[in-house]
Amino acid sequence: MHISVIFAIVGLTVAVAPSLALPSRVTRGEGLNWSFFKNSRLTPSEQIAADWRAEEAKVKAFSTTSAWRTINSLHTFSEEEDLLRESVKRFAQDVVRPKVREMDENELMDSSVVKGLFEQGLMGIETSAEHGGAGSSFTSAIIEIEELAKVDPSVSVLCDVHNTLVNTVIRKYGTSNQKERWLPQLAESKARRQLGSFCLSEPASGSDAFALQTRATRGGDNWIINGSKMWITNSYEADVFLIFANIDPSKSYKGITCFVATRDMGIQIAKKEQKLGIRASSTCTLNFDDWKVPAENVIGGEGSGYKIAIEILNEAQMVGLAQGAFDKAVPYTYERKQFGQPVGTFQGMAFQIAQAAIDLESAQLLTYNAARRKEERRSFTKEAAMAKYWASVVAQQVSGQAIEWAGGVGFTRETGIEKFWRDSKIGAIYEGTSNIQLQTISKFIQKEYS
Ligand SMILES: Cc1cc2nc3c(=O)[nH]c(=O)nc-3n(C[C@H](O)[C@H](O)[C@H](O)COP(=O)(O)OP(=O)(O)OC[C@H]3O[C@@H](n4cnc5c(N)ncnc54)[C@H](O)[C@@H]3O)c2cc1C
Repeated sequence: MHISVIFAIVGLTVAVAPSLALPSRVTRGEGLNWSFFKNSRLTPSEQIAADWRAEEAKVKAFSTTSAWRTINSLHTFSEEEDLLRESVKRFAQDVVRPKVREMDENELMDSSVVKGLFEQGLMGIETSAEHGGAGSSFTSAIIEIEELAKVDPSVSVLCDVHNTLVNTVIRKYGTSNQKERWLPQLAESKARRQLGSFCLSEPASGSDAFALQTRATRGGDNWIINGSKMWITNSYEADVFLIFANIDPSKSYKGITCFVATRDMGIQIAKKEQKLGIRASSTCTLNFDDWKVPAENVIGGEGSGYKIAIEILNEAQMVGLAQGAFDKAVPYTYERKQFGQPVGTFQGMAFQIAQAAIDLESAQLLTYNAARRKEERRSFTKEAAMAKYWASVVAQQVSGQAIEWAGGVGFTRETGIEKFWRDSKIGAIYEGTSNIQLQTISKFIQKEYS
């Protein structure tokens, strides 16, 4: 049955593809059934585009019925996911885009952007409706991050940390009381809305995160925390902090415990970093000096912090970033003329653009595949590592080439293309460096083949 469906889809492609190509190659009367077009009020190319849209709608309706769900392309999304993409796209264009350059130059997130994200319901994507969220899929969170990154990767990382790290940890590991207490304020656009931040890395423990030195000791009804956290995204604006500390170093990583706390409990920012890219996203050092957290603020149980910390997946940001740079530079290459023709039509340029489009598509498919596997509760660690690694490679390559495609203007700040390139560098560093992703992938391969 599967084979017949594949043939049906291949047949459809074969039937549609040649007719799509005809108008550009065949002139009136040269082998094309022109009477069909004569009876239509549309021009040939409009008619073909309309037919193509109708075919697509048919295929979409067909492929989203449950019987065929398992053989969908990775570009098939639920209606809700499609709607979300449209609304994030609009928000990014209308609210974020006008502020991108100013935020980058001031190295500061505009508070109206954060407010808007909450008002649009984008800060509790996977959180259930019962807790004030949208109750959407993990892929929805990926779509949101991807669409925001096309316009500003700083805004997308703010959303990513908040949604896929902070909300997810409380959703998955919180008790029902903790969910009641924390999730609504992290999701809703009401007066008490709060931004989240995820505090794992330390001056001496980055890739080797479980070597963290921050300690928590019990003192009555509280845990007393001492230590420091470094490079913490969102921490300048955040109100809710997930903090990892070791309660029993004799147990090594099995002593790592996750605590939830609020800024008004006395969190101090020691230093705000100045960075190469994603400059509007805050990255700070936090110091904890005999800092008290109530015992009920342990998330996931004592000693479970290491399990929580490895539940991370983020690569949509780099896919969106690469697409954003591509979308800015490619139209320019078809407008800019040198030697009497658009520069994008020289074979040397056209092939580079084609290659970048292939790389982009492959990074996107790896990302969607890892996200769908996670939703299907299949193993996804290797696939996520591949997606994270490849998306960061593609983001750096494509955004770097995009500058070259746009020539001198690409190098200026005016177009914003150079910003994508600066922003892309972080993709190979945070949430697991590229080497760490390769290490993860190679461990799976060794297990599979030895
Ligand atoms: C802008 C920014 C935002 C961040 N946001 C957060 C955040 O919100 N929360 C948080 O907890 N952390 C955050 N981080 C920290 C980030 O996760 C770490 O920087 C990252 O894990 C790398 O750690 P490191 O910087 O100590 O580099 P190191 O671990 O010192 O790595 C240095 C180099 O050595 C390589 N290397 C290390 N170990 C190996 C190995 N076993 N095999 C091969 N190569 C290896 C690495 O690949 C890298 O190239 C952020 C960092 C930045 C820059």
